[in-house]
Amino acid sequence: MDGLMMRDGLLIGSILRRAETLFGSKEVVSRRGDGSIVRTTWGEVGRRTRKLMTALKSMGVQPGDRVATFAWNSQRHLELYFAVPMIGAVLHTINIRLPREQIVYIINHAQDRMLFVDKSLACLFAELQEAGSIPSIERFVIIDELAPPAPALPRPALPRSALDYEALIEPASVFEGEPVFDEETASGLCYTSATTGDPKGVLYSHRSTVLHAMGNCMVDGAAMCEREIALPVVPMFHVNAWGMPYSCAMVGAKLVLPGSGFVGQPLAELLEAEKVTCTAGVPTVWTLLYQHLQEKTYDLSHLKTILVGGAAASRTLIENYKRDFGITVIHAWGMTETSPMGTVSRLRSESEGWSQERKLEALLCQGLPVPGVEVRILDEHDRDLPWDGQSPGELLVRGPWIAREYYNNPAATAAFQPEGWFRTGDVAVIDPFGYVRLTDRKKDLIKRKGEWISSVDMENAAVAHPGVLEAAVVARPDAVCDEVPVCLVVKKEPQASVTADDILALLAQRFAKWQLPRPEDILFVESLPKTSVGKLDKKRIRSTMIQPGAAAVPGTPRTPSA
Ligand code: AMP
Repeated sequence: MDGLMMRDGLLIGSILRRAETLFGSKEVVSRRGDGSIVRTTWGEVGRRTRKLMTALKSMGVQPGDRVATFAWNSQRHLELYFAVPMIGAVLHTINIRLPREQIVYIINHAQDRMLFVDKSLACLFAELQEAGSIPSIERFVIIDELAPPAPALPRPALPRSALDYEALIEPASVFEGEPVFDEETASGLCYTSATTGDPKGVLYSHRSTVLHAMGNCMVDGAAMCEREIALPVVPMFHVNAWGMPYSCAMVGAKLVLPGSGFVGQPLAELLEAEKVTCTAGVPTVWTLLYQHLQEKTYDLSHLKTILVGGAAASRTLIENYKRDFGITVIHAWGMTETSPMGTVSRLRSESEGWSQERKLEALLCQGLPVPGVEVRILDEHDRDLPWDGQSPGELLVRGPWIAREYYNNPAATAAFQPEGWFRTGDVAVIDPFGYVRLTDRKKDLIKRKGEWISSVDMENAAVAHPGVLEAAVVARPDAVCDEVPVCLVVKKEPQASVTADDILALLAQRFAKWQLPRPEDILFVESLPKTSVGKLDKKRIRSTMIQPGAAAVPGTPRTPSA
């Protein structure tokens, strides 16, 4: 028997309509490439989006066409977030930090027809166009993020016959009405930041995007609401900036877009000036910001929440922000394939009676699956493991905003089995309350004499040292033990007195003796390589930093390392 409720599909247009109708005067603020600020409103973003829809249509963009962007977090990128899917086309956000060959690969794989590119990033495409490497792109549109009149900078090489974004929008009329289509229609395409093999395309739908935005607005999700002033530091080219542009529009929150100003001073200034209340990004961003906040004072009294995901948030990070600034760091987990919100760590009501330490342990977990997402963990024979907080297994997830296939990639999709669940490649334990705690990526676990050591746990233990900025733990093949852990440490300051002994003593508080690295396998390094989305690049660390002759300095016991 059919239910008798309205069949209004879950379309991205409905998100924008709500922002325009109810919150038309609420602000959308963008920081331009030259540091200047552009202020507009959700109403104006809506009007310009509808002009852009007309412009896209008049250029022949058809339903299902892929329209790519190569841009930082800006108002114009936001307009594309709505205009492209609202005419039934697919917004393909390209990660600007990918290596050139991967950019070429994904443009060709996606068969993008148009590319909107920030002027400061456009010269790459002039070259690729010249070389005939991206033949599917018929038109380039330049997004100029400098304040007019633009300073007389050397003119970057632009692709031939490139159009100007504003020149495109200005004469266009506001699009009449809103095309209606099936809610399962593709709306966005994002490729995984593959550290091995080719990137894989995840094709979001209107339905998955709207449901994910609703999940973001749940109190036990990201708790986005109208009163928030939100600044996504997570780039708009990475998993739709964790869905924040959509969830902020849905509830009419003031949205602050930082351009390319993702670190230290520009970020701190924007957080202060716009009285931001919640922000989100990977741990490295917050570690660097914390360092900057030690050097210069800002009024961040409005900032209540930092949502951290993409890599594990350390105890130090959570404690430092709480103690020094009263800011709550909320730990969350997700992937490109999960839109990305999968789990968020919030205290359950049972925690009332828990000690501070027990509460902190729960907050350090990646969290409870958000409403809409189900989880399970499997052993190597695909048997379900108990939720006892101790049995690690591969994490599987399912839900309406989890990918069911990769775009045009049956081989990668085959790895999804068993049917109906997505294999994350992450290894986790789940406790009896349902808190998921990641112990590693499957490929990053260290296997010593057949027993597993969690690299993530060891990194977290190492960064608890006050003189340590960051740490990475990777496996080194070993003839006797199969693999042994190698711990690479970056000091906060070159002169900081941190020794291998200090690190070992810290690790010994949490790890059994057989799990500890050898003293000569604690290496002090100047910096650690990061992936295109700011996570530790363990593949590069393994291949270049732990081999004989690599640039690391072994931290000999009892010798303060220079
Ligand atoms: P991406 O698709 O680039 O967003 O990467 C997803 C991967 O990042 C996940 O499979 C995890 O390995 C890792 N990740 C995401 N969130 C966390 C977290 N809170 N803690 C540890 N690892 C995380």
